[in-house]
Formats: sequence, C-alpha cells, structure tokens
Amino acid sequence: ALLLQPLTEQHDIVKQIQKHHQPEFLLSDIEKGLKNKEFIPYFQPQINLTTGHLHGVEALVRWHYGGKVVMPDSFLPVIESNQLILPLTLTVIEQTLEQMLRWQQAGLPELQVSVNLSAAYLDQLNLASLMPDLLKKYAVRPEQITFEITERIALDGENQSSLDAITRLRLKGFYLSLDDFGTGYSSLAQLNQLPFNEIKIDKSFVLRMLSSPISEAIVKSSISLARQLGVRCVAEGIETREIEEFLVSSGCDIGQGYLYSPSLPGSRFTEWAITYQE
Ligand code: C2E
Ligand code: CA
Ligand code: CA
Ligand code: CA
Repeated sequence: ALLLQPLTEQHDIVKQIQKHHQPEFLLSDIEKGLKNKEFIPYFQPQINLTTGHLHGVEALVRWHYGGKVVMPDSFLPVIESNQLILPLTLTVIEQTLEQMLRWQQAGLPELQVSVNLSAAYLDQLNLASLMPDLLKKYAVRPEQITFEITERIALDGENQSSLDAITRLRLKGFYLSLDDFGTGYSSLAQLNQLPFNEIKIDKSFVLRMLSSPISEAIVKSSISLARQLGVRCVAEGIETREIEEFLVSSGCDIGQGYLYSPSLPGSRFTEWAITYQE
C-alpha cells in the first residue's frame, strides 16, 4: 500500500532514509545557500478544532540543497552555532510575508501565520524595529503574525536582553506562542515571564496521548491551563481522527498535524487550502 501513496516526509520509510543518509555539507554550503535563497519556508496548516475551518499556518524551513530537501534538525544547530540565525530568520520571514500576499491574491481567507524564533541572538536580530517596514511592504498587520519561541530563554537570567526583545514584539502587537510546552525547554515558569498568547503542546505528548496515561494527563492539564489563563491552546502532531476527537472533546482550540497535511511549499499550500475549503 505504501508504494501506491506519494512519498511525503511523514512516512517512516522516508524518515529512516533521511536518518541513515544524512546529507553532507560544509558551513560554506550553508552560507552560499543563504545568499542564493535555498532556505525556503514550507507551510503546515493549523485547523480551528471548534469550527473545522482553516485557522492559519506554521512556517517550517527547508533547505533545497543539491537536489534534496534537507530538514531543519540537521542544519539548524550548525546555523545557530555560527551566528547565521539572523539571515536565516530574515529570509524565512520575508518569504513568508511574500507568500501571504500571494495567498491573499489567490482569494484565500486571512490566515494567522506562525514563525519559529530561535532564542540565540534574538536581541541582535532586533525584530521589533525591523518588522514595521516589512509589514508595510507586504500589507500585513502585526496581529496576523505569531512568533513561536522554543528555548529555555525565559528561564535563563543572562538572557534578559532576549527577553526584552520578545516583550517588545508583543508590545508592537505580534502574538507570542510558547512552543514545545510540557518539555524541559518550556514550562510553567516561563508563562510568568513573558506575555504569551498561546500554549503549543509538544507533539511528543499528543502522539502518545492515547497509549500513555501520563501524556494524556499532560495534554489535558495544558488545555485547562490555557483555558484558565485565557490563552489559545494549540496541539501539534495530530496524526489520527481518534486523537483529533479527543482534543476536540477536551476543548483544545487549534490542531496541526499530518492528519490534515504535512508542511507544503507555498504554491502547493494554496492548492491544498482551496481543496480543503470545498
Ligand atoms: P517545531 O517548531 O516543534 O515544529 C513541529 C515539527 O513537527 C515540524 O518538524 C513538523 O514538520 C513536525 N510535525 C508536524 N505535524 C506532525 C505530525 O503529525 N507528526 C509528526 N511526527 N511530526 C509532525 P520540522 O519541520 O522538521 O521542524 C523541526 C524543528 O525545527 C521545529 O520544531 C522548530 O523548532 C525548528 N524550525 C523549523 N523551522 C524553523 C525556522 O524557520 N526557524 C527556526 N528558528 N526554527 C525552525
Ligand atoms: Ca514551532
Ligand atoms: Ca513542538
Ligand atoms: Ca521542537
């Protein structure tokens, strides 16, 4: 049956091949790739679990390198440890804004767009002052953009300037999401330190929710925590209808996962969204 389906990144067989054939590249390949726009955001839909309507997308970067599509886990660590996160983040944001304009021209409803931020060098990136010009150029409002923040940034006292950089984004009207919620990187203490609008439950819990009572408890308590704080709750890693139904009945607001679609290049996302709406 597998051979009859188009191969996409969610298939285990693809994951295995990717694991055992790690693409080889040099730092200079990454630098060249950044200049040549080989780092491309793909887009994964987020669904409003209450209405079933398309809510938005998360931008997930891919590297088109040597005829292959390289996944972020294999190049992000290299990028982060070589101070290349600034050009990477800017190229992802600018291409995402370009895409939003195209979706609008294609007649899609207005989408909430999430962009991942690495904690490293966030203060140097100075997004709060760069974003207004970019938004003007593409006619996007700050409330359409959610920044997802993963790392232990808020717990790290030395990171006060990155904390300030994130707070400035919120003050400018952008939304903030606490990514990977429930893992060691992101926890209750962080909620206290930053003005988050959204909790994003890590996929490790969502994937195991129906087989592990602990994962189920973490998912349920995250949802109820979001409720009590009055913030949006997003579950990623929804692969089956059963899990979707459980999340709907538990009151989770937004869902994301292979059940709906893997991440797609912008133009393919347009086609997906048009078909989804029909
Ligand atoms: P993340 O932000 O936690 O993103 C969710 C990951 O889960 C993505 O992996 C996505 O493809 C995958 N995923 C989505 N739905 C499902 C599902 O139903 N089942 C399973 N098993 N997985 C699912 P991806 O695209 O490989 O990204 C890995 C990580 O790389 C991201 O984790 C994020 O931390 C980072 N990343 C991706 N794009 C960017 C970017 O533009 N900038 C920064 N700084 N980090 C990024
Ligand atoms: Ca994310
Ligand atoms: Ca996550
Ligand atoms: Ca992650």
